[in-house]
Amino acid sequence: MAVKTLDDLLADGVEGRGVLVRSDLNVPLDDEGHITDPGRIIASVPTLKALSDAGAKVVVAAHLGRPKDGPDPKLSLAPVAAALGEQLGRHVQLAGDVVGTDALARAEGLTDGDVLLLENIRFDPRETSKDEAERLALAKGLVELVGGPDGSGGAFVSDGFGVVHRKQASVYDVATLLPHYAGTLVAAEVKVLEQLTTSSERPYAVVLGGSKVSDKLAVIENLASKADSLIIGGGMCFTFLAAQGVPVGTSLLQEEMIDTCKKLLEDYGDVIHLPVDIVVAEKFAADATPETVDADRIPEGKMGLDIGPGSVERFTTLLSNARTVFWNGPMGVFEFPSFAAGTKGVAEAIIGATAKGGFSVVGGGDSAAAVRQLGLPEDGFSHISTGGGASLEYLEGKELPGIAILES
Ligand code: ADP
Ligand code: MG
Repeated sequence: MAVKTLDDLLADGVEGRGVLVRSDLNVPLDDEGHITDPGRIIASVPTLKALSDAGAKVVVAAHLGRPKDGPDPKLSLAPVAAALGEQLGRHVQLAGDVVGTDALARAEGLTDGDVLLLENIRFDPRETSKDEAERLALAKGLVELVGGPDGSGGAFVSDGFGVVHRKQASVYDVATLLPHYAGTLVAAEVKVLEQLTTSSERPYAVVLGGSKVSDKLAVIENLASKADSLIIGGGMCFTFLAAQGVPVGTSLLQEEMIDTCKKLLEDYGDVIHLPVDIVVAEKFAADATPETVDADRIPEGKMGLDIGPGSVERFTTLLSNARTVFWNGPMGVFEFPSFAAGTKGVAEAIIGATAKGGFSVVGGGDSAAAVRQLGLPEDGFSHISTGGGASLEYLEGKELPGIAILES
């Protein structure tokens, strides 16, 4: 991509300069506010460390969750600041606000190499505003924290890959005001996606799961014409099964999508592969009793919570000689151990294809979490993306505003 990168910025020299970094630190928290999966924090470290080591005054903007009406203590970045400090091996200050008096005072007090994390950027409603003037006003506030756009002041490094598909103040508008660069994470993610879309070696297998067909319809439509096989599991497979006229019990079903799925099966029937057996249960719960049935024999009143062993076997055969694999969305409710085998089996098949020299990419927050939770080796895949929505939109062929603006 014709985008300046972190290396270009480092070559220009950053010692003593204020550098604003948009990172994606949106990690999952448990009920007590503990981080359950630090993957995104770890992925953000290389860019921040390089800048800090080079003597920049680093100001980090990031979000956590979706705060509704301004500041919400439950969505404070405090636990993230602590975890980030541990990963960086240096103290990370947390501002009490986004671009308010505390953030300004702290930014002014930074010395070379210091790292300041602003409080949850989405505490400021202008971040996600549809009104360009509002977003621009917040972006100007952010620019002020790194010393303004001229002379030796301010630069912007975009490194939050999980948000580059959003036209938001700290992702998009700020890049219109400051010299801008892609961070190492964003550059690496885009490189992998470019490889998937431009030079995918065949056979190319796409594995899709997760909960909703509607979320992934555009990517199904785009990839069905490119892939040699499109394997469908997870909650979305039931709408496809229903489109074949099969009863699906109380399984997840998007009735309004049945016709679309019918059309996809008509057009790409030889590419799309559905499960042949399903693990069903009487309820959506960890302690529900699992029972494996043929995919066209789902009993009334039961819901499908995983693909069955016969499906794993079939999908494994399809994946065994794949040279390129893109996987998004768990094959079942992997969060419940009784319904995790399908996801684990398919993940292992992808790891097998990778070991034979295939190129594999995992995209999607829950899919990446599944890899870690099921104890699978992360380095068994060629790349685990930090951004589900962003990678899907890229593969759908959409322009990502946060990337496009870096090209200008
Ligand atoms: P990703 O974040 O990887 O893009 P999604 O968010 O689309 O994935 O979907 C993940 C969720 O889908 C998981 O929480 C999983 O429990 C759920 N899921 C998978 N299979 C089923 C199923 N058969 N019924 C209900 N939910 C399912
Ligand atoms: Mg998800």
